[in-house]
Amino acid sequence: MEFHVVTLFPELFESPLSCGLLGRAIRAGLISVVLHPLRSYGLGRYRQVDDAPYGGGHGMVMRPEPIAAAFDAALAQRPGLWRVMLTPQGEVLDQLKVEQLARYRPGLLLLAGRYEGIDERVGTLVDQELSIGDYVLAGGELPALVVIEAVARLVPGVIGNPQSLREESLSGAMLEYPQYTRPREFRGQRVPEVLLSGDHEKVRAWRHDQALKRTRQRRPDLLGKIKP
Ligand code: SAM
Repeated sequence: MEFHVVTLFPELFESPLSCGLLGRAIRAGLISVVLHPLRSYGLGRYRQVDDAPYGGGHGMVMRPEPIAAAFDAALAQRPGLWRVMLTPQGEVLDQLKVEQLARYRPGLLLLAGRYEGIDERVGTLVDQELSIGDYVLAGGELPALVVIEAVARLVPGVIGNPQSLREESLSGAMLEYPQYTRPREFRGQRVPEVLLSGDHEKVRAWRHDQALKRTRQRRPDLLGKIKP
């Protein structure tokens, strides 16, 4: 799967894409990330990408022409990309949306904004506007990386054991059951006996109960979304 990103700060992607799960997935050829530096499409001698807002106000707004030119270049390179603008005004990302995004082929074209925002008319160039949560960041680069990592985890082969994807938090709109490893006792807290029993059916039932209990306590809003 391919991820294309239009950004003013391609250097912000270097370290996150070079190590861990994403680094391994790229080296294995399971995903690729193509960065399109917006400055290269800037206007005039100074490669301008922003301007003052019409009607006045503070801050600068990203102009539409450089973004349109970067999109054209990305789409000429890889037609059919699903175009996503990262904005705090978009639909809020959750695991269900991540699953939908993971189905697009050849992949995603992500637009990372900066400054006070993006000219409204850029909305006509995208298929979807996405927020990663109800807070405001300085730019869309971290949101783009959040989308890339969340989606890449679902690309076949990226996570060694696909069973772990099925069991983890939010995969069935439930939080994951509590996990334990060694030692058996830590500061007076013992690992639940059932996990030491070797009885897989009992372990499975216990985990399901715990997941339900935990979801009820911490995120009751999710229970209405449980998949049959
Ligand atoms: N003034 C804008 C508004 O109120 O909608 C916020 C602009 S923000 C400072 C600059 C850029 O950061 C946005 O264009 C967007 O790409 C990105 N951004 C900030 N918070 C985000 C969020 N929660 N989700 C996705 N992108 C975000």
